Amino acid sequence: SDIGSQKERVVTEEEWLQKWEMGNIGFHKEQRHPLLQKYLDVLLNGRSGLRIFFPLCGKAVEMKWLADMGHTVVGVEVSEQAVKEFFSDHSLPYCEEPVPEISGAKMFQSTSGNISLYCCSIYDLSSSIVGKFDGVWDRGALVAVNPCDRQRYARLMISLVEKNSSYLLVTVSYDPNKHKGPPFYVPESEIKSLFG
Ligand code: SAH
Repeated sequence: SDIGSQKERVVTEEEWLQKWEMGNIGFHKEQRHPLLQKYLDVLLNGRSGLRIFFPLCGKAVEMKWLADMGHTVVGVEVSEQAVKEFFSDHSLPYCEEPVPEISGAKMFQSTSGNISLYCCSIYDLSSSIVGKFDGVWDRGALVAVNPCDRQRYARLMISLVEKNSSYLLVTVSYDPNKHKGPPFYVPESEIKSLFG
Protein backbone atom coordinates (compact mmCIF):
# COMPACT_ATOMS: atom_id res chain seq x y z
CA SER A 1 0.00 0.00 0.00
CA ASP A 2 1.11 3.58 -0.45
CA ILE A 3 1.52 4.16 3.29
CA GLY A 4 3.44 0.93 3.80
CA SER A 5 6.72 2.74 3.34
CA GLN A 6 6.20 4.83 6.49
CA LYS A 7 4.24 2.47 8.72
CA GLU A 8 7.26 1.04 10.53
CA ARG A 9 9.23 4.24 10.84
CA VAL A 10 10.00 5.45 14.36
CA VAL A 11 11.55 8.76 15.35
CA THR A 12 12.72 8.53 18.97
CA GLU A 13 12.46 11.30 21.57
CA GLU A 14 16.26 11.37 21.59
CA GLU A 15 16.24 12.15 17.86
CA TRP A 16 13.81 15.03 18.43
CA LEU A 17 16.05 16.43 21.18
CA GLN A 18 18.98 16.20 18.79
CA LYS A 19 17.09 18.10 16.10
CA TRP A 20 16.61 20.94 18.57
CA GLU A 21 20.25 20.80 19.68
CA MET A 22 21.50 20.88 16.10
CA GLY A 23 19.10 23.67 15.15
CA ASN A 24 17.62 21.25 12.64
CA ILE A 25 14.13 22.72 13.07
CA GLY A 26 12.89 23.55 9.59
CA PHE A 27 9.37 22.90 10.89
CA HIS A 28 9.49 26.01 13.08
CA LYS A 29 8.04 29.10 11.41
CA GLU A 30 8.50 32.67 12.56
CA GLN A 31 5.24 33.75 10.93
CA ARG A 32 1.85 32.74 12.21
CA HIS A 33 0.34 29.87 10.26
CA PRO A 34 -1.97 31.24 7.53
CA LEU A 35 -4.49 28.44 8.16
CA LEU A 36 -4.85 29.41 11.81
CA GLN A 37 -5.56 32.97 10.78
CA LYS A 38 -8.03 31.73 8.18
CA TYR A 39 -9.87 29.38 10.55
CA LEU A 40 -9.53 31.33 13.77
CA ASP A 41 -13.29 31.94 13.85
CA VAL A 42 -13.92 28.20 13.62
CA LEU A 43 -11.57 27.60 16.53
CA LEU A 44 -13.08 30.29 18.71
CA ASN A 45 -16.67 29.95 17.56
CA GLY A 46 -17.57 33.31 19.09
CA ARG A 47 -16.20 32.36 22.49
CA SER A 48 -13.62 34.20 24.57
CA GLY A 49 -11.25 33.14 27.32
CA LEU A 50 -10.81 29.61 25.98
CA ARG A 51 -8.36 26.93 27.11
CA ILE A 52 -6.40 26.03 24.01
CA PHE A 53 -4.07 23.05 23.72
CA PHE A 54 -0.95 22.81 21.54
CA PRO A 55 0.16 19.15 21.36
CA LEU A 56 3.84 18.69 20.39
CA CYS A 57 4.12 22.47 20.53
CA GLY A 58 7.77 23.17 19.78
CA LYS A 59 8.07 26.93 20.14
CA ALA A 60 5.07 27.72 17.98
CA VAL A 61 4.57 31.48 17.76
CA GLU A 62 0.80 31.03 17.62
CA MET A 63 0.84 30.26 21.37
CA LYS A 64 1.83 33.84 22.12
CA TRP A 65 -0.72 35.18 19.64
CA LEU A 66 -3.65 33.31 21.19
CA ALA A 67 -2.53 34.11 24.73
CA ASP A 68 -2.37 37.81 23.81
CA MET A 69 -6.00 37.51 22.70
CA GLY A 70 -6.97 36.51 26.21
CA HIS A 71 -6.99 32.73 25.91
CA THR A 72 -5.18 30.32 28.18
CA VAL A 73 -2.61 28.25 26.31
CA VAL A 74 -1.25 24.87 27.36
CA GLY A 75 1.41 23.06 25.34
CA VAL A 76 3.43 19.90 25.64
CA GLU A 77 6.91 19.42 24.25
CA VAL A 78 9.70 16.91 24.98
CA SER A 79 12.51 19.36 24.32
CA GLU A 80 13.29 21.63 27.25
CA GLN A 81 15.43 23.69 24.89
CA ALA A 82 12.38 24.38 22.70
CA VAL A 83 10.30 25.43 25.70
CA LYS A 84 12.99 27.77 27.00
CA GLU A 85 13.53 29.23 23.53
CA PHE A 86 9.82 29.98 23.31
CA PHE A 87 9.92 32.13 26.41
CA SER A 88 13.20 33.83 25.53
CA ASP A 89 12.21 34.48 21.88
CA HIS A 90 9.20 36.42 23.19
CA SER A 91 11.03 37.94 26.19
CA LEU A 92 8.46 36.37 28.50
CA PRO A 93 9.43 35.82 32.12
CA TYR A 94 8.51 32.36 33.39
CA CYS A 95 8.86 30.07 36.33
CA GLU A 96 9.40 26.33 36.29
CA GLU A 97 8.15 23.67 38.64
CA PRO A 98 8.06 19.89 38.77
CA VAL A 99 4.85 18.06 37.83
CA PRO A 100 4.18 15.83 40.84
CA GLU A 101 2.14 13.28 38.84
CA ILE A 102 4.85 12.73 36.18
CA SER A 103 8.32 11.77 37.25
CA GLY A 104 10.98 13.92 35.59
CA ALA A 105 8.47 16.29 34.02
CA LYS A 106 8.56 20.05 34.44
CA MET A 107 5.99 22.71 33.80
CA PHE A 108 7.11 26.10 32.55
CA GLN A 109 4.61 28.87 33.10
CA SER A 110 4.67 32.50 32.01
CA THR A 111 4.68 34.80 35.01
CA SER A 112 1.35 36.19 33.80
CA GLY A 113 0.02 32.64 34.11
CA ASN A 114 -1.64 32.35 30.71
CA ILE A 115 0.90 30.08 28.99
CA SER A 116 1.85 26.73 30.55
CA LEU A 117 4.21 24.41 28.71
CA TYR A 118 4.70 20.87 29.97
CA CYS A 119 8.11 19.44 29.25
CA CYS A 120 7.47 15.70 28.95
CA SER A 121 6.07 13.22 26.47
CA ILE A 122 2.47 13.87 25.48
CA TYR A 123 1.74 10.25 26.40
CA ASP A 124 2.42 11.13 30.04
CA LEU A 125 -0.48 13.58 30.13
CA SER A 126 -4.09 12.95 31.08
CA SER A 127 -7.10 15.16 31.71
CA SER A 128 -6.59 14.73 35.44
CA ILE A 129 -3.26 16.54 35.07
CA VAL A 130 -3.98 19.18 32.43
CA GLY A 131 -7.77 19.40 32.45
CA LYS A 132 -9.86 19.57 29.29
CA PHE A 133 -9.65 22.00 26.41
CA ASP A 134 -12.07 24.10 24.37
CA GLY A 135 -9.78 24.22 21.36
CA VAL A 136 -6.81 22.40 19.84
CA TRP A 137 -4.28 23.62 17.29
CA ASP A 138 -2.71 20.46 15.85
CA ARG A 139 -0.02 21.51 13.39
CA GLY A 140 3.12 19.41 13.08
CA ALA A 141 1.68 17.18 15.79
CA LEU A 142 -0.39 14.26 14.44
CA VAL A 143 1.88 14.31 11.40
CA ALA A 144 4.95 14.10 13.66
CA VAL A 145 3.58 11.22 15.73
CA ASN A 146 5.09 7.85 14.83
CA PRO A 147 2.59 6.00 12.63
CA CYS A 148 2.46 3.14 15.18
CA ASP A 149 1.35 5.60 17.89
CA ARG A 150 -1.46 7.34 16.01
CA GLN A 151 -4.30 5.47 17.71
CA ARG A 152 -2.90 6.13 21.14
CA TYR A 153 -2.41 9.79 20.25
CA ALA A 154 -5.94 10.21 18.88
CA ARG A 155 -7.52 8.50 21.89
CA LEU A 156 -5.57 10.74 24.23
CA MET A 157 -6.54 13.88 22.31
CA ILE A 158 -10.21 12.88 22.36
CA SER A 159 -9.96 12.43 26.13
CA LEU A 160 -8.49 15.93 26.50
CA VAL A 161 -11.26 17.91 24.80
CA GLU A 162 -14.54 19.26 26.08
CA LYS A 163 -17.80 18.30 24.38
CA ASN A 164 -18.12 21.66 22.65
CA SER A 165 -14.58 21.98 21.42
CA SER A 166 -13.01 22.82 18.08
CA TYR A 167 -10.02 20.88 16.79
CA LEU A 168 -8.02 22.37 13.95
CA LEU A 169 -5.80 19.76 12.33
CA VAL A 170 -3.19 20.51 9.69
CA THR A 171 -1.89 17.63 7.60
CA VAL A 172 0.37 17.42 4.59
CA SER A 173 -0.53 15.57 1.44
CA TYR A 174 2.31 14.01 -0.56
CA ASP A 175 3.62 10.75 -1.98
CA PRO A 176 4.95 8.82 1.07
CA ASN A 177 7.28 6.81 -1.16
CA LYS A 178 9.27 9.93 -1.91
CA HIS A 179 9.93 11.13 1.66
CA LYS A 180 10.41 9.05 4.81
CA GLY A 181 8.91 11.67 7.15
CA PRO A 182 8.23 13.34 9.51
CA PRO A 183 5.97 14.97 8.64
CA PHE A 184 4.24 11.71 7.87
CA TYR A 185 1.49 11.37 5.33
CA VAL A 186 -1.80 10.69 7.14
CA PRO A 187 -4.50 9.84 4.62
CA GLU A 188 -7.90 11.46 5.04
CA SER A 189 -9.50 8.03 5.52
CA GLU A 190 -7.21 7.38 8.48
CA ILE A 191 -8.03 10.75 10.05
CA LYS A 192 -11.71 9.79 9.83
CA SER A 193 -11.14 6.44 11.47
CA LEU A 194 -8.92 7.95 14.18
CA PHE A 195 -11.19 10.84 15.14
CA GLY A 196 -14.59 9.73 13.90
N1 SAH B 1 3.80 22.07 16.54
C1 SAH B 1 5.09 22.74 16.45
C2 SAH B 1 6.27 21.76 16.36
C3 SAH B 1 6.18 20.68 15.33
S1 SAH B 1 7.55 19.55 15.26
C4 SAH B 1 5.08 23.74 15.34
O1 SAH B 1 4.05 23.91 14.69
O2 SAH B 1 6.10 24.37 15.10
C5 SAH B 1 7.10 18.30 16.45
C6 SAH B 1 7.55 18.64 17.84
O3 SAH B 1 7.10 17.60 18.72
C7 SAH B 1 9.06 18.72 18.06
O4 SAH B 1 9.37 19.94 18.67
C8 SAH B 1 9.40 17.54 18.97
O5 SAH B 1 10.46 17.82 19.86
C9 SAH B 1 8.08 17.30 19.70
N2 SAH B 1 7.78 15.94 20.13
C10 SAH B 1 8.02 14.79 19.45
N3 SAH B 1 7.52 13.72 20.11
C11 SAH B 1 6.91 14.21 21.23
C12 SAH B 1 6.20 13.59 22.31
N4 SAH B 1 6.01 12.27 22.36
N5 SAH B 1 5.71 14.39 23.29
C13 SAH B 1 5.89 15.75 23.24
N6 SAH B 1 6.57 16.37 22.25
C14 SAH B 1 7.07 15.62 21.25
